[in-house]
Amino acid sequence: MRKVRVRFAPSPTGPLHLGGVRTALYDYLFAKNQGGDFVLRIEDTDTARYVEGAEEYIMEALEWCGIIPDESPKHGGKFAPYRQSERRDIYDKYLAEILKTDYAYLAFDTPEELDEIRKEFEQNGDVFAYNNITRNRLKNSLTLSKEEVQKLLDQKVPYVVRFKMPVDRVLNLEDIIRGKTSVNTNTLDDKVLVKNDGMPTYHFANIIDDHEMEITHVIRGEEWLPSLGLHYLLYEAMGWERPEFAHLSLILKPEGKGKLSKRDGDKFGFPVFPLNFKDPETGTISKGYREEGYLPEAFINMVALLGWSPANDREILSLEEMTKEFDLHKVHKAGARFNKEKAEWFNHEYLKSKSDEEVLSLLKVAEGINLDGSSDEKLLKVIALMKDRATFAKDIYNEGKFFFEAPNSYDEKAVKKAWNEETPAILNDFSKKLLNLTDFQAVAIKQSIHDLAEEKGLGMGKVMMPLRLSLVGELKGPDVPEILEILGKEESIERIKNAANNIG
Ligand code: GLU
Repeated sequence: MRKVRVRFAPSPTGPLHLGGVRTALYDYLFAKNQGGDFVLRIEDTDTARYVEGAEEYIMEALEWCGIIPDESPKHGGKFAPYRQSERRDIYDKYLAEILKTDYAYLAFDTPEELDEIRKEFEQNGDVFAYNNITRNRLKNSLTLSKEEVQKLLDQKVPYVVRFKMPVDRVLNLEDIIRGKTSVNTNTLDDKVLVKNDGMPTYHFANIIDDHEMEITHVIRGEEWLPSLGLHYLLYEAMGWERPEFAHLSLILKPEGKGKLSKRDGDKFGFPVFPLNFKDPETGTISKGYREEGYLPEAFINMVALLGWSPANDREILSLEEMTKEFDLHKVHKAGARFNKEKAEWFNHEYLKSKSDEEVLSLLKVAEGINLDGSSDEKLLKVIALMKDRATFAKDIYNEGKFFFEAPNSYDEKAVKKAWNEETPAILNDFSKKLLNLTDFQAVAIKQSIHDLAEEKGLGMGKVMMPLRLSLVGELKGPDVPEILEILGKEESIERIKNAANNIG
């Protein structure tokens, strides 16, 4: 048995999106589950679509996710180089080979000539394809004589190399996820294998590299399913054993219809990229999960479950656990609907399971937060109290701002609900109680609130509500005694006095 080897083969035409991350993750999970290798290959033969910084972005994103390749442009490996632009001599060698077979030919048609024919077809209500019918009347090495071809080559007339699609053959294709399908070659066109600059196209370079790199399983997006017939025939043409194939279904928009597109993030208010990406041309920044405050463990857990269900409806799995359980046969055929709330739920669960110290380090690096002047001791207390309700570490700060800043206004509705003319006197009495409290802990504080309510013949709520309003500025937040403990005696009394003097 051959050692399982799986590759992720992105093109550096932009940042990796959610679908790309999922493909990489499934590639990795499958390879590791089978005790195999995970290879990162950069498919950069399409120079026109190359985007500056995209390759670095892809590598950094995989690293952040913990999907670490065994071989890559950065890690090197036995089959280096791992960038297609550096493998030209290998492609040239195999081009010479395929040209000796009956599976490829040279085509000299200029773009203008092809445009002309395309228009002709359109006028007759047809769509032009360079295929087993049209190729017989076009300018190529099938219609021209040997001498004519040689003359054009001598004159350095540009040409492309096309695949010669066999006539009327039924191809039986197999996909690990989708099962068996078949396609008649008459429905397929003669794809360009090598462009007029001598660079191979995706199809040709891809199968050469998969063969050379001893790839056993190709797991990729379903947009490549229509190319599967061609790829089967390319392996046949070269006389090579072909890998097994699995095509992943799409990730769908939250409403369940249509592919999740790169622009949907802005529309629906969630990132579609793992990391922030700054477009080198326009300078616009697309948001990333990392910068949004997601934990990488939560992110990949969420991504993995977009199209795969682990046994027993388990949802929270570490990368290691996923690796143990992953099974390509259990990957869904239907598209997976993206769900923002579910993504947040994953982060909430992972955040909750972190120690307070770990959350403190996350809070310290979270964007848009200023923790100046707060001691770690106080922050840890706030974290312990607020962690379980937070989705992101930054929520602990945003939802608990009152721990760090005294209210500078009081919510009007809350005032109406919590306040009457006796309230200031009650609060002043309570301040005195607090002042005398030697043990300034939530339990003792709660007891004094109790005592006060009893003395005044009031329900607990009548004391708690105005207290909360004085401390927080509105009627939200954790238990009042806990808030008082964290704020400390001095700050608490000051806030209560301020409220007593200013509200009413
Ligand atoms: N370079 C192709 C892409 O970016 C790879 C497809 C494949 O995995 O074969 O989609």
